[in-house]
Amino acid sequence: MFGLSRTAGLSQRMAFARLSSTLAFVETTGSKITPSSLSALTAAQELGKPITTLLVGPHAAEAAKEVSKVASVDKILVSPSEKYDHYLPEQVSPLVASLLKDSDYTNFVVAASTVGKNFLPRVGAILDLQPISDIIKVVSPDTFVRPTYAGNAILTVKSKDSQVLFSVRSSAFAPVELKDARDVPVEEVPYVEAGNSAEFVSEELVKSERPDLGSAKIVVAGGRGLKNKEEFDRLITPLAEKLNAAIGASRAAVDAGFCDNSLQVGQTGKVVAPDLYIAVGISGAIQHLAGMKDAKTIVAINKDEEAPIFSVADVGIVGDVFEIVPELTAKI
Ligand SMILES: Cc1cc2nc3c(=O)[nH]c(=O)nc-3n(C[C@H](O)[C@H](O)[C@H](O)COP(=O)(O)OP(=O)(O)OC[C@H]3O[C@@H](n4cnc5c(N)ncnc54)[C@H](O)[C@@H]3O)c2cc1C
Repeated sequence: MFGLSRTAGLSQRMAFARLSSTLAFVETTGSKITPSSLSALTAAQELGKPITTLLVGPHAAEAAKEVSKVASVDKILVSPSEKYDHYLPEQVSPLVASLLKDSDYTNFVVAASTVGKNFLPRVGAILDLQPISDIIKVVSPDTFVRPTYAGNAILTVKSKDSQVLFSVRSSAFAPVELKDARDVPVEEVPYVEAGNSAEFVSEELVKSERPDLGSAKIVVAGGRGLKNKEEFDRLITPLAEKLNAAIGASRAAVDAGFCDNSLQVGQTGKVVAPDLYIAVGISGAIQHLAGMKDAKTIVAINKDEEAPIFSVADVGIVGDVFEIVPELTAKI
């Protein structure tokens, strides 16, 4: 809990409450806040404490203007070193740990994105704190709800740590509202020596005109039932184009080389919660359901009427994807 004895006096508790605050890590693409960080800020708000945000990398100062549009943010820390570009966990973790150590921050919040998942456990290890990952609900500043066993069970976890670190599943929280830019105090934080040799060399990004899988309102996902890459592209791409949807895939489809592995949905892929999820030739293994069962409307097309995907589908079409999908695409 907060490190106060039960016998602590009221004034001591009130003084402590005044001091306690939240540090929220904000990821950006250029100067724009990522959708997953906007959701993490909503979770931070629900703690009901003053919020300081941390922005890192060369675009941090520019992005601070964007963060000032979040009404609940009281202060912005920027650490603009080039070394924080690309969010290398070996570089970011020592900085976050140094800000948290012996501070008044009682909570540290980050999105459960690739970046957050990469550095949060390291911060926990440096500070000897147990992070709580992928929360879907804030019960109180030390108690959270999170899924476990690939989403088949829901846990309520209470932390006894003096500082509670947690990551936020973005599909479970609406993005925070951006209002007019305000005058929020901005403080620069120097680079913290990482003491290791990890450095960014290069990256290869999959370029796509399609909406981002993690935040798209509609997802068209293909599975092994599509047989091969040519059929995957022939059936899934035109349907996704008509619907302005992101493309997703099952692990079997990814493993068979039908598409890039960044499109995998599920326990070991992305967790999505679009308004509409169309599963094409996907059986609905629990590991796949873990990534999409929170979609508002699920449409499943499968020739096997016993396929488990139909147990979560709102609309089920039993039939051959090679007949149904072209017809559906033509009719939209
Ligand atoms: C630790 C672990 C983690 C995993 N993580 C993930 C994950 O993140 N995401 C994930 O997806 N999987 C994951 N898996 C794999 C998962 O268990 C399944 O193997 C996988 O989801 C199956 O993919 P699929 O539904 O495309 O293939 P299949 O299970 O082979 O299903 C293909 C479906 O297509 C249908 N079909 C075939 N032909 C047609 C046709 N002509 N018309 C209509 N329907 C047709 C079939 O009836 C069948 O239901 C994981 C497994 C493990 C062990």
